Amino acid sequence: MEEERGCRANVHVVVLAYHGQGHINPMVQFSKRLASKGIKITVATTLSNTKALQAVSSSSSLRFLSVYDDCTEGGVAGLGGFKGFLDRFQVSGSKNLSNFIAQHDRSEYPVKCLVYDANIPWASGIASNFKIASAAFFTQSCAAAASYYPMYCEVSGTPMPESVFPLIGLPKLGIPNLPSLGPTDGRYPPIIMHLLSQFDNIHKANWVLMNSFDQLEEEVVEWMAKLWPVKPIGPTVPSFHLDKRVENDDDYGFHTYKLDSRDCMEWLSSKKPGSVVYVSFGSAALLSAEQMSEIATSLKQSCANFLWVVKPTEQSKIPHNFSEETSSKGFIASWCPQLEVLAHDAVGCFVSHCGWNSTLEAICFGVPIVGMPQFLDQMINAHLVEKVWKVGMGAVADDKGFTRSEEISKCIQIVLEGERGKEIKKNALRWKELAKEAIDEGGSSDKHINEMVSYLIQHEASN
Ligand code: UDP
Repeated sequence: MEEERGCRANVHVVVLAYHGQGHINPMVQFSKRLASKGIKITVATTLSNTKALQAVSSSSSLRFLSVYDDCTEGGVAGLGGFKGFLDRFQVSGSKNLSNFIAQHDRSEYPVKCLVYDANIPWASGIASNFKIASAAFFTQSCAAAASYYPMYCEVSGTPMPESVFPLIGLPKLGIPNLPSLGPTDGRYPPIIMHLLSQFDNIHKANWVLMNSFDQLEEEVVEWMAKLWPVKPIGPTVPSFHLDKRVENDDDYGFHTYKLDSRDCMEWLSSKKPGSVVYVSFGSAALLSAEQMSEIATSLKQSCANFLWVVKPTEQSKIPHNFSEETSSKGFIASWCPQLEVLAHDAVGCFVSHCGWNSTLEAICFGVPIVGMPQFLDQMINAHLVEKVWKVGMGAVADDKGFTRSEEISKCIQIVLEGERGKEIKKNALRWKELAKEAIDEGGSSDKHINEMVSYLIQHEASN
């Protein structure tokens, strides 16, 4: 069959991806990696995601399957908000996914493994029903998962592990600024309960895949390995930017908002190396008008140029006349090709919310970070950036939770100009090399992926 050319040993893996850019990107990227090693892959996800991923479907060997029509039912904005979305996704997703696996049972490519986003713990039951292998995929840092785990043990009555990961110096998971997600459910808000549910069926998984790499989170990976069959398989940044071994893999192919691509890259190319501060808070964080104003003031006062991503939903919070007043040195985009931006030598530092994908991307491109975490795991990532990997500075928020313009300006200046900035850049370049090594042939993440692939192939052969 033409479409199956290159597949080894009739192994078919379904990858079940959660909604949201920060989840889709790493799982589709991991799918491309597996496909490049001769595994037939079907990526199952929501209808809106499959539509948005059309560019990927035409350029890669992945196939996409919609298991839940979130377009008609309104997705997260539909009836019952976030909880309603999760419930509908589970009802429709589990039925459609089960049908798909059952239909392929007697085909040339029966499904042998289900890789699911750990945010979709019910998927584990489907793998058990069909007696196929399963892998829980975490899209956060290992440190974030490790810090959620004691909360999970407490809530679920699971015995605490003998040695709790020593989170010395790590900030507590912060939850300020959370979008309203409905009434609280017991001690923790629903979003936390949802995050904790990632551990619900983890003990049943054949593998626990982390979008990280051994060296980046050595201690925490060692700790986790005592609890679960953990395999760091990242970074999942497109291969073109790292080891260049996966064909047609230079972009994620998925964007939450319409890209301002051409104009912003043209603008960037007119700037001197290292002269631009790139500012972005990812797809989910919503900043207050007051916080936006503090950022605007610091960008206006800074000697550096800036490229600021302000999502369409946030544009009304840009201070009056700011764009006109800063037009000689600034560019505001509603969404940009972040990988291309970080790869551009004009970019000297990244003011980031420290979402896990953005953090890993900055590491892969050797771009120093000024961390302005907003909530949840971003707090931990920002801590790792400054204190552990020493690839950036954390801009500290005041008692009211706002990071003031003076603090942002100070961090930008240190990173771009100071002696400490040189040290930070040196560290960033070292981590860039280590990230590439991890995923390149023979690297730790490559070995972990190969072990999984070998198991699936051998298992198939012995069936
Ligand atoms: N991103 C992008 N263009 C932008 C801003 C972000 O392509 O203008 C991408 C970025 O490369 C990353 C993802 O969106 O892969 C954001 O993921 P992250 O985990 O950093 O944050 P989240 O959106 O989940 O909060």
